[in-house]
Amino acid sequence: MDPFTHALLGASAAQFAFGRRLPRRAWLIGAGAGLAPDLDFFIRSASDPLLNIELHRQFTHALAFIPIGGALTGLPWLLRRRTRADWRPVLGAATLAYATHGLLDACTNYGTQLLWPFADLRVAWHLVTTIGPPITLLLLVGLLGTLLGRRRWPAALGVIGCLAYLGIAVGQQARGLAAQTLIADARGHAITRA
Ligand SMILES: [Zn+2]
Repeated sequence: MDPFTHALLGASAAQFAFGRRLPRRAWLIGAGAGLAPDLDFFIRSASDPLLNIELHRQFTHALAFIPIGGALTGLPWLLRRRTRADWRPVLGAATLAYATHGLLDACTNYGTQLLWPFADLRVAWHLVTTIGPPITLLLLVGLLGTLLGRRRWPAALGVIGCLAYLGIAVGQQARGLAAQTLIADARGHAITRA
């Protein structure tokens, strides 16, 4: 997914869950942590041009890496004296936002190694494209509503709207596959790859 949408989802989830403890900072912590897994994009090697393709959406996007990623992205905030006392909500906001990244990426068709290091499977649920304006817009409106109105529920509505959109995509995908099966059956074709 595009970086802006990742930042919005991380910020919305963090602001909703931890906005009471960190009213001005939860969304900022969440935006940074929501973006952070894509820093793997900058892992490159002049001698191995495939390294970037192999490592993008790999360990930084894995479910097993979430606690480490959450701690690393929360760390810069814990180094500041102002936020150090709130270390629990800071780490909670960072970890929650970090956790949203790999799962959202798995909804696209690129392939995300959620199960690394236990499996090399590239999870791709083929529900949305890498740039999905409806999801971005829902999250943006929700987060703006929360930040401007100083209420937590608009951000939650944005996330719920995002999940509802993905739910509709699941239904549409099933309809598409059913139609494909019908056509293949009518033609006597065996589907080897759908
Ligand atoms: Zn990513």
